[in-house]
Amino acid sequence: WYVSYVCEVEAAPLPATSSQVGVDVGTTWFCITSDGEFVENPRHFQRGMKRLRVAQRTLSRRKRGSNRRKKAKAAVAKLHRKVARQRLDFHHKTAAKLIRENDLVAHEALNVLGMGKGNLARSIHDVGWGQFFSLLSLKAASAGRTVIAVDPRYTSQTCHECGHACRENRIGQAKFRCVNCGHTANADHNAAKNILARALPSVQNVEVMRGLRSPGLQSGE
Ligand SMILES: [Zn+2]
Repeated sequence: WYVSYVCEVEAAPLPATSSQVGVDVGTTWFCITSDGEFVENPRHFQRGMKRLRVAQRTLSRRKRGSNRRKKAKAAVAKLHRKVARQRLDFHHKTAAKLIRENDLVAHEALNVLGMGKGNLARSIHDVGWGQFFSLLSLKAASAGRTVIAVDPRYTSQTCHECGHACRENRIGQAKFRCVNCGHTANADHNAAKNILARALPSVQNVEVMRGLRSPGLQSGE
């Protein structure tokens, strides 16, 4: 038997902060904000992932149908659950902080993320980001905040200072130097600023937005 119930609750809007933030998710860092905050994947989570990989290797060495394989399988499943719980907890805390501190949170839309940045390392992380982004939207809805998902294409190649976009702007994984205006920045920080800038036109006027805010107003995607 399963019982599920749904209840409608009044949103409890948080006081306005007049801050807005863009969030760039990555593989080296969990995310980097347009304010220049680098959010690391928690250590215990990284350790858990490592243990999981070791357990998976052990499992693949065990003979099919053997008792030791059964044991190894159980160990992998247990680690999986632990890592998933750790990730969920970290996502909750990170999303809660962003929602508490900002009226508007902008992030990359996931459905086109693969298209824009197209590499395997990122697509592996997509699952996790999907969970994080939906937590952001849920928390925004109950706190009267706004979450906007923007088209991520070229956010990592476009200069935030002058708008010039080309592949040569990126020097390596972490560094950004605009070939047009010479602006230098951390590449992901630059991208986070572009993500925020893309979200702003759809908000049009933050003052108007704030005036319109009511407990029932839900936003985001
Ligand atoms: Zn430039």
